[in-house]
Amino acid sequence: MAEIELKPCPFCGGKAEVILTGNSITGYSKVDVRCYCCGMGRTYKKIKGMSSDTIRSQVAKKWNRRADDVSEENRN
Ligand SMILES: [Zn+2]
Repeated sequence: MAEIELKPCPFCGGKAEVILTGNSITGYSKVDVRCYCCGMGRTYKKIKGMSSDTIRSQVAKKWNRRADDVSEENRN
């Protein structure tokens, strides 16, 4: 499965990364997308029963959508 590329941080243009924290006991995962540069990030919780590839691509989609929204707002 091809990995979706994360858009750069909408605030500073820095590189963002997906950080996956799994919990094998509960089966839940915590997923952070965090910008290395300014520390801006989002946390997505309670994603159950998905492979880490699926989680990564889902979170990447959400992040990219948000990155689009923010740059849209900044244009005005
Ligand atoms: Zn940033």
